[in-house]
Amino acid sequence: MIELFRDPEMARVGQYQSILEAEGIATFVRNETLSGTEVVIPAFYPALCVVDDKDYERAVAIIRSYEQEVPGSDEEIRCPQCGELSPGTFSECWNCQAALSAPAP
Ligand SMILES: [Zn+2]
Repeated sequence: MIELFRDPEMARVGQYQSILEAEGIATFVRNETLSGTEVVIPAFYPALCVVDDKDYERAVAIIRSYEQEVPGSDEEIRCPQCGELSPGTFSECWNCQAALSAPAP
């Protein structure tokens, strides 16, 4: 199982989960039950994971193509470690899992 991305908003995680499930990719949401607590720290944000590691790259590609269809969310973050571009919603590089910082406004 590989974590795909995490987001403080469970609704968003759930949205991507249904997109991936519709593509036939088995997913799992980690920390789902912890959302809604008063103090939520990033380590416990709901996290969308792919169950089967070999689906990971396809899942990333699906989310990327989906992101490109949403106006205003087409910015990508270049990984400081390996130089690959990840969708702006990602907190970690899809390729090497290095931490990504948000793009400058
Ligand atoms: Zn990287």
